[in-house]
Amino acid sequence: MAEVVRINQDTWRIEDGNVRFYLLCGAERAALVDSGRDTPDARQIAEGLTDLPLLLINTHADMDHISGNGAFDEFYMSPAEEENYRSRGGSGTILPVREGDRIDLGGRVLRVIDQPGHTPGSIALLDERDRVLISGDSVQNGRIFLFGRFRNVPLYIESLKHVLEYAGEFDEIYAMHGSVPVGPELIPKLIEGAGRILRGEAEGERVNVFGNEVLLYRFPYAEFLCELTLGK
Ligand SMILES: [Zn+2]
Repeated sequence: MAEVVRINQDTWRIEDGNVRFYLLCGAERAALVDSGRDTPDARQIAEGLTDLPLLLINTHADMDHISGNGAFDEFYMSPAEEENYRSRGGSGTILPVREGDRIDLGGRVLRVIDQPGHTPGSIALLDERDRVLISGDSVQNGRIFLFGRFRNVPLYIESLKHVLEYAGEFDEIYAMHGSVPVGPELIPKLIEGAGRILRGEAEGERVNVFGNEVLLYRFPYAEFLCELTLGK
C-alpha cells in the first residue's frame, strides 16, 4: 500500500516500498514524476490529490518506475529510453523530451537534464521554482544499479559531472530511492566512488541480485551494484 506524504503546499511524494515517485502541481497542470513499482493505481492516487489536468513524466523505464504507466495514453520520456521501456512490455505513446526541454506546469517549470548511464534515457528534472532536482536513480544514497543491459558506468560518471553544472540552481535533491531530501554535496561523492570502482581501486563483495552474480560496493554515502568484470 503506497503511502502519500505531503512535502509542501503543492508537492507530494508517494512511497511505494523501496521506491518513491512525486506529484508536483503548478497553477495550470500537475505532473506525476514516475509511476512506482507496485502502483498500477498511481494515476488514481494523483487524481485524489489534485483536480488539475495530470501529465506523467518518467525519469527512466526500469520496472520500479513505470507500474502506473498503463493508465496514461501518452507520457514524457527520453526517446533514448524507448528500447528499455518496450522491452519491459511498456505501452502508450512516448512524448520525447531531451536536455533543455521545459515542461511548464503554470508558474512552475521543470527543466529536463539528460542523465544517461544508469539507463540510456535516464533524465533528471530541475524544478526551477522550488530549486529542487528530481534525480531519478542517478543521484541517490541507496543502492545504485549499474550492472546488466543498458548500464554504462563511464557515461554515468559523465552524467553526474553534467548535473553538477546545474548545482547553483538547486538546494535539495529528491531521489527515488534512499533518503529524501539529499544535498548537492552527494554528487561529487558519487563521482569519486564510481570512479574508484572503474579504476579498480575499490573492493566489492560478491552478491546475488535477482539471479545475477554481481559486485556490491559499499561506500558511506551510497552503494553500487556492478558487473564482476568492471574495473578488472
Ligand atoms: Zn529505481
